[in-house]
Amino acid sequence: MTFTDAPSRLPALASRTDQLADSAVGAVLRLTDGHDVIALAAGSPAPETYCHQEFADVTTRLLSQGGLPLRYGDASGLPELRSWIAARESAGLGRPVDAGQVLLTHGSQQGLDLLCKALLDPGDVVFVDRPSYVGALQVFRLFQARVVDIPLGSDEGLDRLEAALSVEERAKIIYVVPTFANPTGATLDTAHRRRLAALAQRYGCVLVEDDPYRDLGYDTVAPRPAAAASAVRMGTFSKVLFPAARLGHLVVPPFLTDVLMKFKQAADLGNSLLMQQVVHELVQEPGFLATRLERSRHLYRKRRDALVSALAGSFEGALEFAVPHGGFFVWARLPGGADATELLAAAVEEGVSFVPGTDFYATEPDPSTLRLSFSCTRAEDIVEGVARLERAWRTLREEPRS
Ligand code: PMP
Repeated sequence: MTFTDAPSRLPALASRTDQLADSAVGAVLRLTDGHDVIALAAGSPAPETYCHQEFADVTTRLLSQGGLPLRYGDASGLPELRSWIAARESAGLGRPVDAGQVLLTHGSQQGLDLLCKALLDPGDVVFVDRPSYVGALQVFRLFQARVVDIPLGSDEGLDRLEAALSVEERAKIIYVVPTFANPTGATLDTAHRRRLAALAQRYGCVLVEDDPYRDLGYDTVAPRPAAAASAVRMGTFSKVLFPAARLGHLVVPPFLTDVLMKFKQAADLGNSLLMQQVVHELVQEPGFLATRLERSRHLYRKRRDALVSALAGSFEGALEFAVPHGGFFVWARLPGGADATELLAAAVEEGVSFVPGTDFYATEPDPSTLRLSFSCTRAEDIVEGVARLERAWRTLREEPRS
């Protein structure tokens, strides 16, 4: 049989592929392809903060001692790095964390995937904040979960969550980005963190605290995590070192450690040993992380200030937004119920991009919302970007698209 004689019938794809959606940021990047735009869309850390020279030096030094860092490592992660993370988490939580509770993952994104593998059957319920991190919504949907969104940052929202939990038999996960959130920039206060943890415990759910921006506070220190022994904490080196480390971690309660290690093993046999050793060498150097974080905060604070003051002075003062005290994002609502997806098309023509808010909602999107990132754009460009955005908004107001 020749290749061309091969049968033309293709196998059916798995039913979960029905849930595959285009990435919201990816769609914006495609739309802006070939246009010279000021990017207020991508939520990446600033390349100026990557420690590429130190990375190169440590890598060279490690490899000059032989090829051992190139072998397979432990599926749960490099023991020294797990211990370093456990010590840091203990300090943040104010209670001991055992290194055995720490699992290293390929970015925190893989942590979400592994957690869902361990916890979700199709039809199980995941409660999320409203709006919520789009990358997490994507994973929950792929596991065919029923995703229910409730604003979690208020007493009223938590009352609603409690009422929902009290009648929902299939609730498994409550997912929240507690500090300088993606996409809203909002931070849960201590009382709401504690109540969330108590609700999760009472109704037999796992509270997942995805906390990548915790160290990036510009004018406040993040409140302590709820410190619930039954919660899962997620962290990452992506925002404080560089995303290509693809090094995230989970801190999990004992009932999940072995299961998650086995799923990690089945998924990829473990993270790159070389990368873990380099990252460990870097972060255990006294003062290394503190100095870098100080510099990064300075850079991001300047960009945040540029964005909020430009926004405050534009849109005839009618744009609703909250000033974030850390992280990478400003969440805004357009005046007069204008549609952010329509604005994006006009904005790209003017030379600026952002992400419409729609994709950040698990249900019933608010089409007039948008996410603006300030992390990887220079302050001068941010000011020009907002001027372009306002021009696009005026154009849209004068000639609305049908
Ligand atoms: N969670 C949140 C809230 C994020 O904003 C991001 C990055 N956009 C991630 C997880 C994924 O990060 P990582 O690079 O560690 O996979």
